[in-house]
Amino acid sequence: RAKATPATAVAFYDPSMDELVRERKNLANELRLAFDRDELDIYFQVQKSVATGEVRGYEALVRWHHPERGNVSPAEFIPIAEEYGLILQLGEWVLREACARAAKWEPAYKVAVNVSPMQFAHADLPRMVLETLVETGLAANRLELELTESTIFSDKERSLHMLRQIKGMGVTIALDDFGTGYSSLDTLRTFPFDKIKLDKSFVDQVESSEQTAAMVRAVLALGRSLKIPVLAEDIENAEQLSMLSIEGCDEVQGFLLGRPLPIDRIVSTGQLTLLPEAERAPVEQRRR
Ligand code: C2E
Ligand code: MG
Ligand code: MG
Ligand code: MG
Repeated sequence: RAKATPATAVAFYDPSMDELVRERKNLANELRLAFDRDELDIYFQVQKSVATGEVRGYEALVRWHHPERGNVSPAEFIPIAEEYGLILQLGEWVLREACARAAKWEPAYKVAVNVSPMQFAHADLPRMVLETLVETGLAANRLELELTESTIFSDKERSLHMLRQIKGMGVTIALDDFGTGYSSLDTLRTFPFDKIKLDKSFVDQVESSEQTAAMVRAVLALGRSLKIPVLAEDIENAEQLSMLSIEGCDEVQGFLLGRPLPIDRIVSTGQLTLLPEAERAPVEQRRR
């Protein structure tokens, strides 16, 4: 009895906790309005083939330009969107927007879209993906969905069923942040991925730690024997690029190759060509 120490009492009533919750709630309310206020945007980051240097596609990364707070990071607002029931709306917005834009690119380029755990758990994702492809006119084989281990872990059977439905349309699936989950090998064995995205933490230390380099080699060998291409994320310097290229990494992405940028800025650098107006899918007509 009376075990509660002053310390726990303080922790329980800690006003800074209240503040934190209030802050998150505020952010959630503002995010709810951000759609109509046109504060959300998508940046794209280039993904290149190591062997040929060709652009394979672009990853869509959501951005929130808040009028007072400036740019709020998705690492901050995606968890809030999940907590306050906004993630389905956000995920649907990103998917539709990313596909609509990619439908205007030269068809050689794919678009990769991140799918959050809750989006995968609750939404009728296969139906939403199909509807989005039909409405935007994007060919299914130009869309890649990026999932993390935590996204698919909860219910194996259901996840497998959903992934098969999505892959059945021709959409490809990448395993994002590979190596950070706690059962990466099991995940790889169970689900039919088309690409492995080697996590930042491995790439970061690939030049400095012999142990990390050995693990990276092992993942690349694994990818080769499973016939799944490996993309290394977050490449920041030439040493990392050269090491990964020597070891046979298939694709690369990172600040060294290109920062995430608005699509018109990428177009103006000449790294992306848009289709002439006349060759674009007549989306509006189809919707009426
Ligand atoms: P991610 O999917 O692993 O995306 C890669 C992140 O690494 C991006 O951060 C990108 O800007 C950053 N990055 C790329 N190259 C480099 C580099 O060379 N060095 C460093 N230090 N960072 C680099 P961003 O855009 O802040 O996104 C963070 C995470 O938020 C993403 O990680 C993804 O999990 C999530 N996210 C972003 N956009 C969306 C979205 O539309 N939907 C969902 N569900 N999640 C998203
Ligand atoms: Mg990603
Ligand atoms: Mg990643
Ligand atoms: Mg990451």
